[in-house]
Amino acid sequence: MKNKIVLIGCGNVGMSYAYALINQYSYVDELVLIDLNKERIEGEAMDLNHCLAYSPTRVFVRVGSYEDCRDARIVVIAAGSNQEVGETRMDLINKNSKIFKSIINDVMKNNFDGIFLVATNPLDVMTYLTLKYSNLPPNKVIGSGTTLDTARLKYLVSNKVGVRPKDIQAYVIGEHGDSEFVAWSNANIALTSLDSFLTEEDKKEIEEEVRNSAYEIIKRKGATYYGIGMCLARITSAILEDKNIILPVSSYDKENDVCISTPAIVNMNGVQEKIFIPLDEEETKKIINSINVIKNAIKEVE
Ligand code: NAD
Repeated sequence: MKNKIVLIGCGNVGMSYAYALINQYSYVDELVLIDLNKERIEGEAMDLNHCLAYSPTRVFVRVGSYEDCRDARIVVIAAGSNQEVGETRMDLINKNSKIFKSIINDVMKNNFDGIFLVATNPLDVMTYLTLKYSNLPPNKVIGSGTTLDTARLKYLVSNKVGVRPKDIQAYVIGEHGDSEFVAWSNANIALTSLDSFLTEEDKKEIEEEVRNSAYEIIKRKGATYYGIGMCLARITSAILEDKNIILPVSSYDKENDVCISTPAIVNMNGVQEKIFIPLDEEETKKIINSINVIKNAIKEVE
């Protein structure tokens, strides 16, 4: 079976993902593009295929249709509206939930049995709707979750303490949105608490900056896309290469009936296992708040 990916929604986020895939060695054989703007994606496919002579990958890119989902390993969805200046991710809920109903229906009509990877906001709600509309088992529905927020966190901590981002063991968890938070109580570098490296003031500043990053970028350049493109490429390789790596993706939490981000083992089965970080009292209140924010948003759609 070919490692085929169908990408639905080829705007800023979708194409940043596609470009990240082309730039990395990956197991992807074929990338199929679907978007309402047919002419644009014809141009995108041509442009991306012209990278192949110099790229480390063998991905062939073409325009396709929902029938391509029949034998796809992963369907990535980045279709829908993005935030305007001053808009929150939750403000997108009505527009994007309607788009998702028809997209998931069209994918499932073709007996798709692979893994959904969702990037559209509000992320946790769209991931939940994908799960409900598709009826696939929960391990097969993944949202990019707080992978991007965690990348931002690691970058900022790295700048402050002078340790490379990959060696910082810290996660942003909860909603991919305004109620997200850093699980500081277990964050560490070389098994040494981050409290040995950062003051309370540092931690507060870093957490604020992580939470406000999207707003600050949107204010300056209208949208955010390179970071999420890289996160989606990373999740893709974890699945196709059966890597068992830990990523803070959004997936189904049965106990609370929401999709929410915790670190999780990601491999060829999708989310193999969610890992619930032990939280202190303050953090427990924050995760409950995040669960409620997502639950209320889901109720709005239902
Ligand atoms: P964009 O406007 O550049 O692209 C959206 C694309 O979706 C457009 O090309 C549009 O034609 C297409 N589209 C709309 N409805 C469609 C449909 N029914 N079928 C197929 N294609 C359709 O927006 P963007 O900047 O790429 O953002 C896309 C989404 O990703 C937004 O919801 C944004 O908030 C979200 N986002 C998520 C993260 C994250 O961390 N998860 C980060 C950045 C952006």
